[in-house]
Amino acid sequence: MSSKKILLVDDEIILLDVWSRALRREGHEVSAVENGQLALEALAREAFAVVFTDIHMPGMGGKELLELIKKSAQDVCVNVITGAASIADAIECMRLGACDYLQKPCELDELMVLARRCLRHHEERRERKSLYAAVTRYEELDRLRSEFVSNVSHELRTPLFSIQGAFDLLSDAFKNGGSPQNDRLAWVVRHNLERLTSIVNNILDFAKLEKGALKSSFQKVDLVILARETLEALSPLFSQKGVEMHSPAPNAAIGWLSADPGQLRQVLTNLAANAVKFTPAGGCVGVDINGKDQEIEMVVWDSGIGIAPENHQKVFERFYQVDGSLTREAGGSGIGLAIVKGIVQLHGGKIWVESALGQGSKFHVLLPRQQGAGEKKGGLL
Ligand code: ADP
Repeated sequence: MSSKKILLVDDEIILLDVWSRALRREGHEVSAVENGQLALEALAREAFAVVFTDIHMPGMGGKELLELIKKSAQDVCVNVITGAASIADAIECMRLGACDYLQKPCELDELMVLARRCLRHHEERRERKSLYAAVTRYEELDRLRSEFVSNVSHELRTPLFSIQGAFDLLSDAFKNGGSPQNDRLAWVVRHNLERLTSIVNNILDFAKLEKGALKSSFQKVDLVILARETLEALSPLFSQKGVEMHSPAPNAAIGWLSADPGQLRQVLTNLAANAVKFTPAGGCVGVDINGKDQEIEMVVWDSGIGIAPENHQKVFERFYQVDGSLTREAGGSGIGLAIVKGIVQLHGGKIWVESALGQGSKFHVLLPRQQGAGEKKGGLL
C-alpha cells in the first residue's frame, strides 16, 4: 500500500494549525512541522505522498528541502508556499521539480483542490511504476523461457541424431534376418524418432522466430513439386489415420516463386499434419495451388472438425489450442501455426483460415512470386 499522507512544513504555527485541521476535516492524514530539518526527519521516519513547504523559513528553506527530497529519489509531490513578493522563487522551485505552488494568503479551497490533485497524481504514478515493473518482470521471464526452450531443444537434438544414426545401422544389420514383429517395432521406432525430430525442430525454429533470428535463403521453387514431395513424405501419417490424400496435379503450370524451400516444406508439413490430425478416419485432406500474376495461392483443406469463427485469428497465436485441456485427443504444443504464420510473413505473404465447426477447414497461404535479393530475417508478430 502506498502512503496517502500529507506533510505540512511552515514556520507560521497558526497557518500549520488551520491547514492541518482543514485537511483532516476532508479525511486526509496530516503531519505538520515547523522547519526543513524536522521535515527531513519526518520523511526519514515515514512515507508521505504530498509535501507543502514554505519557501522562506529560518534554517533550511523550502528550496533546499525540495532539492534534498528530489535527490533522495523519494516519490513525493512537493508543493511550495510563497508570498506575493517571491513568485520568482516559486517558479524556480517548479523548475527544480516542484509539482505546484500556493500563494499566501490562499483560500482553503485552493489547498484542498491541490492536495486532491497531488494525491491522484501520486497514486497514478505509483500504479504506472508497478505496471512497468510487472511488464519488465514478464519480459524477463519470457526471455528466460525462450532461452530455456531453445537450450533444451539444442541439447535434445544431438542425442536424437545419434539415436537416429545408430538405429539406421541396426536396421540395416537386421534387414535380412527380420521378422514381421521386428519390422513393426522398427517402424514404431522410426516413426517416433521422426516425430520427436520434427517437434524439436519446430521448437528451435519457434525460438529463432521469437528472437527475430530465423533466416530465409531464397531460391527458385516450383511449389507444385515441393507440395507433392512433402505430402508424399507424410503419406504414412495419412494411411495410419485412414485419411485420403489429394495432391495437386503434377502438370499444374503455375510457374516459379522465390522462396526458402526448407521453410515452405515446414509450412506445408505443419498445415497438412494438422489437417490430418483434426480430420476423422474416412475424411480427406488436400492441397490446391493456383498461380496468379504476381502471387501464388496455396490452400491446404480438410473435411475435418473445423474451427469456429471466433477462433480463426487465435489459432495463429503462440500456444493457443482450441481444445487446451490435457484430456484432448490430439497431441501438439500449440506453436505449429505460429511458426507457419512467422514463415509466411518472412516471405512477405499472408495466411488466413476459412472454416466452420463440423465443415472442415481451408488454410489459405498467399505468397508473392518475387522476393528482395538475399537473406531475410524475421520474428513473430
Ligand atoms: P497444435 O500443436 O496444437 O496443432 P497449432 O499451432 O498447429 O498447434 O494449431 C493450433 C490449434 O489450431 C490446434 O490445437 C487446433 O485447435 C487448431 N487447428 C489447427 N489446424 C486445424 C485444422 N486443420 N482443423 C481444426 N483445427 C485446427
